[in-house]
Amino acid sequence: MADRPLLNRALAGLGTTVFAEMSALAASTGAINLGQGFPDTDGPSAVAEAAVRAIREGRGNQYPPSIGTPELRAAVAEHQRRFYGLAYDPDTEVVITAGATEALAAALLALLEPGDEVVTLDPAYDAYAACLALARAVRVPVVLRPPAFRPDLDALRAAVTPRTRMLLLNSPHNPTGMVLTPDELRAIAELAVERDLLVVSDEVYEHLVYDGARHHPIAALPGMRDRTLTISSAGKTFSFTGWKVGWATGSADLVRAVRTTKQYLTFAGSGPFQYAVAEALRLPDAYFTGLREEMRERRDLLSDGLAAAGFDVLRPAGTYFVSAGIGPLGEDDGVAFCRSLPGRCGVVGIPHSVFHADPEAGRSVVRFAFCKKVAVLEEAVLRLKELTRPGAAG
Ligand SMILES: *Cc1c(COP(=O)(O)O)cnc(C)c1O
Repeated sequence: MADRPLLNRALAGLGTTVFAEMSALAASTGAINLGQGFPDTDGPSAVAEAAVRAIREGRGNQYPPSIGTPELRAAVAEHQRRFYGLAYDPDTEVVITAGATEALAAALLALLEPGDEVVTLDPAYDAYAACLALARAVRVPVVLRPPAFRPDLDALRAAVTPRTRMLLLNSPHNPTGMVLTPDELRAIAELAVERDLLVVSDEVYEHLVYDGARHHPIAALPGMRDRTLTISSAGKTFSFTGWKVGWATGSADLVRAVRTTKQYLTFAGSGPFQYAVAEALRLPDAYFTGLREEMRERRDLLSDGLAAAGFDVLRPAGTYFVSAGIGPLGEDDGVAFCRSLPGRCGVVGIPHSVFHADPEAGRSVVRFAFCKKVAVLEEAVLRLKELTRPGAAG
C-alpha cells in the first residue's frame, strides 16, 4: 500500500478546493460569504409544500424509476417545448439525475473513451475537470479572456483535432457570467456539424439572462438536435440547490447512454422532490420573469458596489456571479487577495484561477455571487469600500 498513492491518480491535484477553504474562512471570521453560489433564500413556498405533500402522500419515498418519474420527465419535455420550441419524447429522450452534476458525470463517463479530446470553455465549473479526468479524457481548454470573456472562435476551431470527440459548453457561463450570442452559437454549431462532434451543453442558468437578452439552447440550431445533450437542473432556477434534481434531454441514443451509466452511479434519487419540481417547471411565466428581475437588481447592486470600491467590473449578462479584476486595486494575485479579504473587510470571494486549467490565466480576477438578500449585498458593498477608503489599513 505504501508504494502507491491512495487517491486514483486521475484525481491527483483535484483533492482540495478553495471553496471549502473560503467557506471555512467565512465561518471563522464572520465574513459575508459571496464565494459559493447558493441562494440565501429558499424558492417558492408552493413548491416546498408540494415536496412535503409528496412525502406525506407516499409519492417518491421508495426508489423512483431510475430514469425519473413520468410526471417529471413530462414536465421537463413540456418546459423545453414551452421555452425553446424543442420537442423531446419524455419516455426516451429525457432522463432525471441527481442534479446537473450527475447528468454531467454520467454523460462524460458514458460518451467518452480514454484519450478522447474534449474542448471546454476555460475557466469552467470545477466538476468538468474532475469528470473528464475520471473518464480518462483529455481536456482542451479555450480560454475566455477578461474583460469581455467572449470565446475566441478561431481558437475554438483550432482546438479541434481528429481526436476531438466533444465540445463541452456552458452558457450562461459560470464563473464569468458570459452568455453566448446567437452568432457565436451558430458558429459553434457549424463547427460541431462540420467536424462531427458531440456537444454537451450545461444550461443550469438558462433562466438567469438579463437586459432583454435570451437564452438559446444550441440543440435548437440546424444539425444539432441529435448530437447535443442538454443539461439543466432545478437548483439555480428554483432556488432549491439542496434538492439535487437535474435532467438531460437529447436524442434517444444519447439519453440511453446517460441512463445506462446513471443506473450505476445513483440509480435514482430525490424521489419526493421530483414531484415538486414537476410542479415548479409548470409555474407561470411571472415566476421566471420575477426571478430574473430580482437577480438583475442584485447584479446591479453588487456590480455598482464593486466598481465604486475600485474593482474592474464587467456587468455579467447572465448567471448569478460577477467577475471583477483586482488590478486597479494594485493587486494581481487573486488567491492571496481572496485569502486576505475576510480579514481586511469581511467579505469572501473566489479567485478565478481555481476555475482555469492553467491557474495563471485567471490570476487577477475574482468571482462574487449575488444570489443573496439585498441587505446582505448592501452590507458587503459597504465593507468592500473599506478597501479603498483613504487611510484604511493596507
Ligand atoms: C451549480 C452548477 C452545476 C451543478 O448543478 P446541480 O444541479 O447542483 O448539480 C452545474 N453546472 C454549473 C455551471 C453550475 O454552476
